[in-house]
Amino acid sequence: MRKELSLFIVADILHHFPFRHIDKTKIDNIRDLNPAMEFAQVKVVLLSLNIAGSGRAKRLVGLFRDSTGIMEMVWFQGITWVEKFLRIGTTYLAYGKPGFFLGKPQMAHPELETVSLESGLKKFLEPVYPSTEKLKARGISGKIFSQFVDDVFNKISSADLPEILPEEIIKKYKLSGRFEALKNMHFPPTIKEFNSAVRRIKFEELFLAQLHIQILKQHRKLFSKGWVFEKVGNYFNSFYNNHLPFDLTGAQKKVIKEIRSDLISGKQMNRLLQGDVGSGKTIVALLCMLLAADNGFQSILMAPTEILAIQHFNAIAELTKGININVKLLTGSVKAKERKKILDEAASGDLNILVGTHAVIEDKVQMKNIGFAVIDEQHKFGVAQRAALWKKNVIPPHVLVMTATPIPRTLALTAYGDLDYSVLDELPPGRKPVTTIHRHESARSQIMDFIKSQIKDGRQAYLIYPLIEESSKLDYENLMKGYEEVKSYFPEPKYWISMVHGKMTPELKETNMQRFVENDTHIMVGTTVIEVGINVPNATVMVIESAEKFGLSQLHQLRGRVGRGAEQSYCILLSGQKVSQEAKERLGIMVETNDGFKIAEKDLELRGPGDIQGTRQSGTINFKLANILADRIILETARDEVENILKIDPTLESAEHLPLKIYLDNFKKNSDWSKIS
Ligand code: ADP
Ligand code: MG
Repeated sequence: MRKELSLFIVADILHHFPFRHIDKTKIDNIRDLNPAMEFAQVKVVLLSLNIAGSGRAKRLVGLFRDSTGIMEMVWFQGITWVEKFLRIGTTYLAYGKPGFFLGKPQMAHPELETVSLESGLKKFLEPVYPSTEKLKARGISGKIFSQFVDDVFNKISSADLPEILPEEIIKKYKLSGRFEALKNMHFPPTIKEFNSAVRRIKFEELFLAQLHIQILKQHRKLFSKGWVFEKVGNYFNSFYNNHLPFDLTGAQKKVIKEIRSDLISGKQMNRLLQGDVGSGKTIVALLCMLLAADNGFQSILMAPTEILAIQHFNAIAELTKGININVKLLTGSVKAKERKKILDEAASGDLNILVGTHAVIEDKVQMKNIGFAVIDEQHKFGVAQRAALWKKNVIPPHVLVMTATPIPRTLALTAYGDLDYSVLDELPPGRKPVTTIHRHESARSQIMDFIKSQIKDGRQAYLIYPLIEESSKLDYENLMKGYEEVKSYFPEPKYWISMVHGKMTPELKETNMQRFVENDTHIMVGTTVIEVGINVPNATVMVIESAEKFGLSQLHQLRGRVGRGAEQSYCILLSGQKVSQEAKERLGIMVETNDGFKIAEKDLELRGPGDIQGTRQSGTINFKLANILADRIILETARDEVENILKIDPTLESAEHLPLKIYLDNFKKNSDWSKIS
C-alpha cells in the first residue's frame, strides 16, 4: 500500500491529505432537506419495510421518521442483506445524498449506522482520501486508509512531530501548532480548525521552500569568490561614446548599474535578466562583456540553437566593428581548421568574446581567463550545462542568464529565487505595438491577400505551423500540406518562400533562414523552431496556423518575431471554428494585450505552475497545498520572514532556529538539493 501512494515513512502518510471531508458531526432535520444539499445526515426511526416492484424494478423501501417529518430510503441492491440488518423501531444515523420523488425527500442506498440514543455523533469531519486505481483493485479503500491514519494519531503525540517553524513566527501569524495542524488536516472537529490547519501547512511549505532558496543564495554570497571588474576602460568607453547606435533605455541603464555593482562586489554574480522580446537584452550583454575585456577577462555568450548563436555573433560583430576586439563564433558546424584557430586564441587569451552554442562549454574549449558568461534563453539549458561553466576558471565566471519568457513575480521568487533578478521593463522608443487579431479558417484567402499587399510594400511574413511532437508524422504532413498551399497562393517566381523545420539538416536550415534574413525570400514557413530570438525587422506579418494548439507563452514568443522594425506589424491567429473554452481564453488574451508579464501571469493561472516551461527545482513551485498564485500573500510573507531570520542569524545558530537547521541538515542528507546551483 505504501508503495502505491509513494508513502515511505509515517510523516509521509500524515502528509497524504484527504481531498475533502464529509460532515457527519451534525444532524439534519427531514423537514430541512432540499435538493441543493450534497449530503445530509438524519437521525431516524424505522417505521416499516416493504418490497416494491418486481424483476429489475424490485426494490426495498423503508419508511423512516424523525421529529420533523417522514422520508423513504430505497435499496435496489443487496436487498436481502439490508432487510436482515434493519429492525423496525430502531434508531439509525443515515447519511447520503437527499433526492426528491414527487416532492418527497428520499435517499437511495444511504450509509446506515445504528446509534444508541445518547451518543453516536462523530466528533470530527470525516476525511475522504485520494486513492489510486491499483489500491482500489486491492481493496484498500479510503476508509481503511482513514483508519490507519487514525491509528497513527492515537499512537503519537506532539513530541513525535516537533515544531519546525520558530516560535515567534507561529505567534506572530497565529499559526496552529504542527501536530495540531497535521491532525486537523485529517480529522478536523469543524471547518474552522481545518482552515487553520490548511493555513499553517501552506505557510510551512512556502516558508521552507524559501529557506532552501535563500540559503543557497546566501551561501553563494557569503562564501563564493568573484572576479572584481574594477575598471571601466577603453573597450567600454570607446564603444559607449562612439559606437552605440542608439541611446540606452532607462531600463537598460538601470540593469547595467545593477550588474556593475555585482561585478565589483568580489562575489560571483548569478543574475537572471528578464526582458520581454525586443527589450534589448543583447546590448546589455555586450556592454558587460566589454567591461570584462577592460579588466583582462574573456567572455562567452551561449545560445540554445545554432541559428541564434549566428544571429548573436552577427549582431555583436556589427556593433563592435569600430573597436578593436576579437569576437569569434563557435558552433558544431565550424570546420576543423577554423575551430583550431579559435581554440588556440581562446587558450592564449587573444580571444575576447566567444559566441556559440553549447559547443563553447565543451572541455576542449580552454579559456585563458574567462570572467563572464552570458546564457541566452536559459530555459533551453540544463543545470548540468551551467555547472560546466563553473569549472572554466579557478574562480567561476560571473553569470548572466537572459530570458525572454516573462516570469511572473511569484515564480521569480520561488523557482528562480536563488538568483538575483533584473528586469528590462521598458521597450526601446518608437516601437509600434503589434496588432493582433483572431480569425477562423474561412478568412484564409483574405489573409493571404493581406500578406500579398504587405509583400507589395516590401515587407515579409511568417507562417507558423504547430509541431506538437518532433516525431509526429501527422504534424509534418500538415506542415508540408500548408507549404504546398502557401505555394499555390504565392507562386514563384513572383514570390519566394523559405521553409525551416526540425527535421532539416542544420546547413539547410541555416541557408533557408539566411535567405529570409537577407530579404531574399518573402515568406518563411516554419514550425516553432523559429520561436526564439530570430530578428528580422522587415517582417511585419506573423500568421499562426492552428493557433488554438499553442500555449500562451509560445504564442507570445512567436508574436515577438514581428514588430521589431519601424513599420506597423500584425499577428494573425488562425483557428478552426470550434475551439475549447480555454483556447478561446488564450486567444482572447493575445488579442487583448502585448504585455508579456500579463500574459505570463495568465499563463500561470491557466496552466498552473507545474507546467510552466523552463522552471526548474520543481520542489520550489509544486506544493501539496500551497499555490504560488492563490497564496502569493503567504508566499511573500514567508519570503520576508526568512530574509529577516537569515539577516540576523545567517547560519541558524540560535536556539530558536535550531529546528530549522536540523530540518535543513536532514534534508541535505536525503537529497541532492545541495548540488543544484
Ligand atoms: P531581445 O531582448 O529580444 O534579445 P534585442 O537585444 O535583440 O532584444 O534587441 C531588439 C532590437 O532592438 C535590436 O534590433 C536592437 O538593436 C534594438 N535596440 C536595443 N536597445 C535599443 C535602444 N535602447 N534603442 C533603440 N533600439 C534598441
Ligand atoms: Mg534576444
